[in-house]
Amino acid sequence: MTTDQRRQVPRTDTLLADPRLAGAGERLGRVLVKAAVQRVQQRIRVGELAPEDAVDAVLADLPPVAGSLRPVLNATGVVVHTNLGRAPLSAAAVEAVLAASGTTDVELDLRTGRRGPRGEAAIAALLEAVPAAEAALVVNNCAAALALVATALGQGRELVLARGELVEIGDGFRIPELLESTGARLREVGTTNRVALADYRDALGPATGAVLKVHPSNFVVRGFTRAVEVGELAPALRGTGVPLVADVGSGLLRPHPVLPDEPDLQTTLAAGADLVLASGDKLLGGPQAGLVLGRAELVQRLRRHPLYRAFRVDKTTLAALEATLRGPLPPVQRMLAADVAGLRERARALAARLVAAGVAAAAVDADSRVGGGGAPEHPLPGAAVSLPPEFAEPLRLGGTPVVGYVEDGRTLLNLRSVPPDADDSLADAVLEVARRWT
Ligand SMILES: *Cc1c(COP(=O)(O)O)cnc(C)c1O
Repeated sequence: MTTDQRRQVPRTDTLLADPRLAGAGERLGRVLVKAAVQRVQQRIRVGELAPEDAVDAVLADLPPVAGSLRPVLNATGVVVHTNLGRAPLSAAAVEAVLAASGTTDVELDLRTGRRGPRGEAAIAALLEAVPAAEAALVVNNCAAALALVATALGQGRELVLARGELVEIGDGFRIPELLESTGARLREVGTTNRVALADYRDALGPATGAVLKVHPSNFVVRGFTRAVEVGELAPALRGTGVPLVADVGSGLLRPHPVLPDEPDLQTTLAAGADLVLASGDKLLGGPQAGLVLGRAELVQRLRRHPLYRAFRVDKTTLAALEATLRGPLPPVQRMLAADVAGLRERARALAARLVAAGVAAAAVDADSRVGGGGAPEHPLPGAAVSLPPEFAEPLRLGGTPVVGYVEDGRTLLNLRSVPPDADDSLADAVLEVARRWT
């Protein structure tokens, strides 16, 4: 490079002082702007860009927000997709999060000016939604709820658990290992496929801390099987003082017409569980959280345990949870309820639009899934837009990333997991890819 060219590269402090870039620095932080400035300087140095276009190029290079996580269109057909952040929040929950993001009265009673109970309104919303519960507690996720229960009720004692319920949740996380890491001993009963009430009875003794039921949410055992349900266990434990804790996983509040095999909080408590545990961001459709509901005395024991402080949730989670419970139906619930006719209609309309623009698209039927460790054997019928296979990668890498899947030599964009108001964005993303090829 000649000295001439080097002199032409605008200096970093000159660029940063440009009012438009100074404004971007206020919004995004100086570090991000400076990094973009350096990338643009490099492009000028190699002759890719004219020096007078530097500011525009920096502005074009800047990310839209300071964080690097981006909105993605979930066209996988998996409604609760762990890699895509599980449940998308409802607009009402997003607004509640924004409102609670600054300083907020999460633990202050504004009437008296004194400290108040933390997250009271979210707890009240939970108890209203699950009347069989006397009390409730919210922690960071269902794994934290399990760890808190195992510590408070099982440390130095035994947790009785059926062998068929020694579940690996995903990504190598195993519930039995999590439980044992708290210092609780596992007392496994039954076999992989069968357990009887007598197995539980035989395992009870002075060292028993709790009996635990874990919903096998991501697999099914079929054939010569026998499980003992909460409704059968609860009467057998009555009078023993041993609490029955049920991890139902998915967080359905009530029985769901589309998912008859998924346990729910209200029914499980009504059947006699002393505590139920669930995730907030699976089928409930709310923020990442662990919900603990049940007998007041047990919930209070957990709340007073020192570990609770390490697991409690922040103000934005409480805000999102309350809005999910009290507000309009969250996206996950709407997606589950979407009927096939409506999904097919959306697929037809989208495909027609794309075909009119010269894209080889078609509307096809495609099954979708609940995902997130829920209803593993329960495909939901649905519809997709089918595209040539080479669309999958550029769609994922596009301005608005779209994640679909390739099946039988086609890229499928499954519409059950796409909110209907995102159909325009989906079409635009496909057209953007198609334009690049013509
Ligand atoms: C998903 C799941 C968990 C873990 O929940 P997180 O909220 O991800 O911690 C625990 N138990 C069961 C039965 C589950 O399905």
